[in-house]
Amino acid sequence: MPHASTPVLRDALRLTPGVETLGIESAFEVAAAARRLEAQGRSVVHTEIGEPDGPTPAHIVEGGIRALRDGATRYAPAAGVAALRDAIAAHMADRGVSATAEQVVVTSGAKPMLLYAVLALVRPGDEVLVPDPGFPIYESAVRLVGGVPIPYPVFPTDGALRDEAIAAAITPRTRVLVLNLPGNPTGTAVPAAVLDAIAELAVRHDLAVLSDEIYSRLYFAGVHESVASRPGLAQRTVLVDGFSKTYAMTGWRLGYGVMPARLAERVTALVINSTSCVPPFIQLAGLAALAGPQQCVTALVSRLRANRDNIVRGLNAIPHVHCASPSAAFYAFPDVSGLLERSGLSSTTLSRILLDVYGLATLAGSSFGARGEGHLRLSFATSPELLAAALDRLAACAFDLSSAHQLR
Ligand code: PLP
Repeated sequence: MPHASTPVLRDALRLTPGVETLGIESAFEVAAAARRLEAQGRSVVHTEIGEPDGPTPAHIVEGGIRALRDGATRYAPAAGVAALRDAIAAHMADRGVSATAEQVVVTSGAKPMLLYAVLALVRPGDEVLVPDPGFPIYESAVRLVGGVPIPYPVFPTDGALRDEAIAAAITPRTRVLVLNLPGNPTGTAVPAAVLDAIAELAVRHDLAVLSDEIYSRLYFAGVHESVASRPGLAQRTVLVDGFSKTYAMTGWRLGYGVMPARLAERVTALVINSTSCVPPFIQLAGLAALAGPQQCVTALVSRLRANRDNIVRGLNAIPHVHCASPSAAFYAFPDVSGLLERSGLSSTTLSRILLDVYGLATLAGSSFGARGEGHLRLSFATSPELLAAALDRLAACAFDLSSAHQLR
């Protein structure tokens, strides 16, 4: 009870509409629920968070430690350490993009860069095309600034994205097209001709493109090409990438954007107004990652490829579960609608039962958009043993749900 003389809070903590309704990423919620169960002594197999399970490669850790010892502990330039910006600009050539260091802004992970791009480009009422199913942060960032997210379908069953689906969602109010290729949660990659057609759409409708390429190095066949490599696209694209997934550096928080220099200057103003800079020793660890041997990436991709083949085979062996084989990234996105129809559950309830009863942490497909309903997302960036355990637990749950249905 408040003391008689304690002033009553009326509107002091009234939230802004944007923050009041701000969305989250359910991976963080499920991970917290899983940790609570583990604290009670329960065994949980984790497939919810999207991160490589191994440690950051030693030469990258060493780069960070060396930088700390050398005194890289003061403010760095807001847009990033010069050597890292140079290395990132040079690295863009691998995906067909020519860039200079002044176009690069280094941020604390790819996520803040996504938010900065939306803050810089989206005005209230602007429509922004976002993939569905897709990474939920696009939609929440757009809503935060009063923009209107317009989902376009990425077909969850085969992970395919068609340029016609994007074309159909464009209106005179469309301002930004968000692309996530390769995509989370479907592992979508598109043929060069589809990328050409998407680029033409952006030019024809004068759209800015926010191209999230965080999984660009985790391809199972072929190589990544950026939409920014297409004619007329570099001057309208904010290309976002980072170190989290490629170099097992999720906890370091290091990402970047590559964009026209005029925009980079304004995004740097956003960095100055928020974090001031990314800690310089973290940036120098990132430099060690880009400049050092890339064998760690090749090894990660071959481990992920083997895991993908195992999990896709295992999922398809479970009755009423179907899973397409993703072309990139490290997520299986099985269609479990057969199970849901039999049991009358939603993907959210199924995911909760899997965690609470079977000790398997997954994400509900619906947390990636309306078109994700009927699916689950499982990260396969884990050990073969844990993947086998995940499949066993899912199979046990599927069996129980199907048996219960037959008894009714
Ligand atoms: N973009 C996508 C599509 C992601 O899946 C993720 C992480 O899950 C991120 C961005 C965030 O990456 P970072 O750790 O660099 O902020």
